[in-house]
Amino acid sequence: MNASARANSHPPLILEIKGNSLDDGPGIRSVVFFKGCPLACLWCHNPESKRPGTEIGHDATACIGCGTCIESCPRGALSRDNPFFIDRAKCNLCFDCVEACPTAALRRIGTPMAIPDIVAAVSRDKPFYDSSGGGVTLSGGEPTRAMDFAAELAQALKKAGIHILLETCGAFRLQAFKQMLYPFVDLIYFDLKLMDDRAHQHYCGAANKIILDNFSQLHQSAALGGVPILPRIPLIPGITATPANLGATAAFLKRCGADRAQLLPYHPLWQAKNRTIGMPPPADGPTAALGQWLSPQALSECAAVFTREGIAVC
Ligand code: SF4
Ligand code: SF4
Repeated sequence: MNASARANSHPPLILEIKGNSLDDGPGIRSVVFFKGCPLACLWCHNPESKRPGTEIGHDATACIGCGTCIESCPRGALSRDNPFFIDRAKCNLCFDCVEACPTAALRRIGTPMAIPDIVAAVSRDKPFYDSSGGGVTLSGGEPTRAMDFAAELAQALKKAGIHILLETCGAFRLQAFKQMLYPFVDLIYFDLKLMDDRAHQHYCGAANKIILDNFSQLHQSAALGGVPILPRIPLIPGITATPANLGATAAFLKRCGADRAQLLPYHPLWQAKNRTIGMPPPADGPTAALGQWLSPQALSECAAVFTREGIAVC
């Protein structure tokens, strides 16, 4: 099977291609969001990227209550009496309602895209990448979940002279990653969430061993001249942003020889996003804390845990 056939055998859905990003790596970037993730983090800021399949979303804040969609649905799946508006057990994803909605309050989430189409879409902004030191960021979801597709995309982008940054949760088979995707990546942002394995399984839905092993080995490769890697720690109140977890994370990074890390400030907007795709609020976890932003003082206390270990926070 050639590379093209391989990449097209299980093509992932693309959630979105976002242009002009200044928050997803150096310079001006386009971000390709893959749909589907091997983890299931409670606080995921992009919850519509978690499941690999197509979904339908309803944004109540954009809905004017006209009822056009209710009349257009052939399966009677929509109702104002339903707190989530859509009965997903009845819906067969025909998207008639999406077509009918005058305000785009209903939308299809996840679209198949061919690699040449993605390359064409992001290449339009190449002059901005070149003038700003930017490029394309592969994000998600988790791009490595579709390793062959991501590798072929990265190869095509590299051929077009575009800088490639991979944002990853780290849960992948290292050997396949090294063989397929690694050769085409210029920079890796690698997320680390919880050092305690039981907590990781509870809040992220999977064990953390493979993630920690992968980080350790990729950091070693970076030190030997391989792809630079930046650890990132999402600060989730009462879950990851605790003195015990941050202390253990800083100690782990020090053992790996890392001298810098990025802390990702928390924002509670994921809970509203969850509603649009029919996911109920979390039943457990520090629910009161999860509704709040972290204060500037809490952020600086989190940063101090790392700087005390000689790890610069960026
Ligand atoms: S996608 Fe189709 S079945 Fe689902 S709610 Fe909309 S119209 Fe009804
Ligand atoms: S058609 Fe759109 S705006 Fe009208 S009720 Fe349905 S979701 Fe709301």
